Amino acid sequence: MISTVYSWCFDCGTLHATRINRPRTCTGHQANLGYTPEEALAAKHRTFGDANQWHELPSHHQQRITANG
Ligand SMILES: [Zn+2]
Repeated sequence: MISTVYSWCFDCGTLHATRINRPRTCTGHQANLGYTPEEALAAKHRTFGDANQWHELPSHHQQRITANG
């Protein structure tokens, strides 16, 4: 059963795990990427390459990721 979603946080430069239906503990710019850490990291590299921080993201990616709490 899926209970956690993994997202890359471009403000912290790390992966965050968030329980589904719970508020995020970080309000940074995050992209939801998968339901396991491995899946999320693979999707992150596929989509964003080596960019780990917000300033490394091209603007077309920045426009699709919003900060949320
Ligand atoms: Zn964060």
